[in-house]
Amino acid sequence: MRIMISADMEGATGVTWTADVEAGTEPWQRFRKMFTRDVNACVEGLFAGGASDVLVNEAHSSQRNVLLEELDGRARMLTGRHKPLSMMQGIDSGVDGVVFLGYHAAAGLDGVLSHTYLPNQITGVWLDGVRASEGRLNSALAAEHGVPVLLVTGDDLTCADAAEYDPDAGTVAVKECVSRYAAICTPPAVTATMITDAARRAMARAGRFAGAVAGHRIEVEFGAAHLAAAAAVVPTVDQLDVRRVGFDAASMTDAMKAFKVVTAIASGAVEGSYG
Ligand SMILES: [Zn+2]
Repeated sequence: MRIMISADMEGATGVTWTADVEAGTEPWQRFRKMFTRDVNACVEGLFAGGASDVLVNEAHSSQRNVLLEELDGRARMLTGRHKPLSMMQGIDSGVDGVVFLGYHAAAGLDGVLSHTYLPNQITGVWLDGVRASEGRLNSALAAEHGVPVLLVTGDDLTCADAAEYDPDAGTVAVKECVSRYAAICTPPAVTATMITDAARRAMARAGRFAGAVAGHRIEVEFGAAHLAAAAAVVPTVDQLDVRRVGFDAASMTDAMKAFKVVTAIASGAVEGSYG
C-alpha cells in the first residue's frame, strides 16, 4: 500500500498567524518543527495501519518547510516548487490513498488562515458551482485518479469542510478556530497521538477505485478588478464580472493546471500593499 501525504502548513498544530508560516521568520522556524511532528505522527499511523511506502509532498508556499533531517526514516519527501500538479504532485503515480495534512478552510470563509491558493487576493473559488477549499479541489483530483482521501487534519472548520466533500474521510482537529488569526490549540504531544491513531484507522479505506474523468468548471473571485482582468488574458478563461473569472476543463487534472496558471498570473499582477 503506497500512500501520499499532501502536507500544507496553515492547519498544522499551533499555527495561527501569518509569520508562523512565512519562510525565514523566527515563528516559522519554530512551527516547521511542529509541522514536521504532525507529518511524522501521520507517517507512524500509516505504517501501523499497513502502509508499505509513504511519500510526503510538501504543499505549502515555497514547499521547503518540513525538516528532512527529522523526518521518519521510512518516509520519502518531495520538496521544492514548480510541480505541474502542485499540492497533489504524485497523485497520478498509482498511490492507494492520500492524506490532506495541515489543511485549512476556503478563501472567503471563516477559519484559521483561511485562503485558497493565494493568501489574500482570492475571495472565493467555486468548483462546479460549489464553494471550494483546496481540500475540495484536491479531493476531486484524487477521485479522478481513483485515490481515496483517507484523512484530513487542520482546524475544526477544515474538518467540517472535509465532512462535506468526503464524508468517509477521517478527520483530526488539531485546533479550534476562534478567528482567522486565533485558535484554541491542542499541544503537539497530544495532537501527535490523535493523528497517529486516526491515520492507522484510516488505512482501512486505502485501496484504489475506478477513477472517472469528467469535465469541470472553476470560477474564481478576486479581491480586486485588475487581478480578474489579468487572469482573463489566459486563453479559455472568461471574465464573468468585474472581479470574477471562470473556465471549463475536460478533466479535473486540466482544471487544476488551468487554476494554477490563473493563480500564477494573478499573483504576478499584485502591486504592493494595494494588492
Ligand atoms: Zn493551503
